[in-house]
Amino acid sequence: MKNLVLLLLLGYPAVAQTRVDPARVDRLLQRAAVIDLHDDTTQMILDEAYNLGEKHDYGQVDIPRMRSGHVSGVFLSIWTDSDRYTPVEAIRRTLEQIDAVRREIARHPGDLEMAATSAEILAARKRGHIAILMGVEGGIAIDSDLAVLRSYAELGVRYLTLTHTNHTPWADSSSLAGTHNGLTGFGREVVREMNRLGMMVDISHVSDKTFLDALEASAAPVIASHSSCRALASAPRNMTDDMLRAIAKKGGVVHINYYEGFLDDGFAGRETALKAEQAEQNAIDGRTPNFGDRSQNGPAVRKINAQRIAKLGHLPLSRLLDHFEHAVKVAGVDHVGLGSDFDGADDLFPEGMEDISKTPNLVRGLMERGFSDEDILKILGGNTLRVMREVEQVSLRLKAENR
Ligand SMILES: [Zn+2]
Repeated sequence: MKNLVLLLLLGYPAVAQTRVDPARVDRLLQRAAVIDLHDDTTQMILDEAYNLGEKHDYGQVDIPRMRSGHVSGVFLSIWTDSDRYTPVEAIRRTLEQIDAVRREIARHPGDLEMAATSAEILAARKRGHIAILMGVEGGIAIDSDLAVLRSYAELGVRYLTLTHTNHTPWADSSSLAGTHNGLTGFGREVVREMNRLGMMVDISHVSDKTFLDALEASAAPVIASHSSCRALASAPRNMTDDMLRAIAKKGGVVHINYYEGFLDDGFAGRETALKAEQAEQNAIDGRTPNFGDRSQNGPAVRKINAQRIAKLGHLPLSRLLDHFEHAVKVAGVDHVGLGSDFDGADDLFPEGMEDISKTPNLVRGLMERGFSDEDILKILGGNTLRVMREVEQVSLRLKAENR
């Protein structure tokens, strides 16, 4: 009774905390294929000699924490800063990151396995390995050249985010006023070539018009690799309800982003108001040479992140669950997945979802909200496997027609 009073005083929803049997969470995780569509750990591997095999007290992703999180597969993001690199330089930076991922996989053969298809993820899981996949974040990296796109596909890249925060010469980003009115003719060619290659078309980061054009141009379902719901948080790269419905209609999947600034406008406003931290971060960015490594900056950036967290605190896990619940309500349970943005969002993740080991908390939270085991399995990775299979089938069909 004393405990109950304490819980009520602390403002906990007393009913929700005790309802789920921990054995049910365990049983579900044994069955699940947990797949995260967006982790930005790659630059740490390349620039800071970050070893996935060690458990770290910083960052969000390593093998020990993936194991605790029952993770079957992650897409490591191959991202190039388009403010810092020209498109030609971005090709080199992309190849260096692909190489870093492949070397890191080779370094941990007992735990990691390169995968490029839905079947390969499941095969890796069967062998007790974690499947590592790659997605290129930002169309700048192809330098408007389909030959470069094809080469990335050949090296194992399985999605391309059409833009990052800058426009490409062929697609508008959500971060700036539009210049192309969506996708150009060449942008549509990029989408069609991705369909043929079996690369997923990723519309996270693109403008609303680019989104519509990509949906229209694509012969296969499209994905948002890491985007949350705009009805709950107004970031322009979140999905409106109309966009959620349109992705669902096309058979695609929206993978929910956990970054607190995309979950809650109040949080985003308080973060933007932290001017000292932003100034420090800008000073570090200004010192970083074009082709240098970030190893000198890693600890400094982490210090700024810690300062931010000390001032902002964290959102509760329930705020993230709100986004999952909303996306399921609008798009349907077959069209929602995981797109954490771990290692890509300044350590700003909700309480209880601090890193990739926390999958059990997400599962418990969804159970507390009344989701069935089958529905949770879909969200954790079943939907991603399905959309990958469909993209693979479209690719086979298009390749056969081309012959
Ligand atoms: Zn991103």
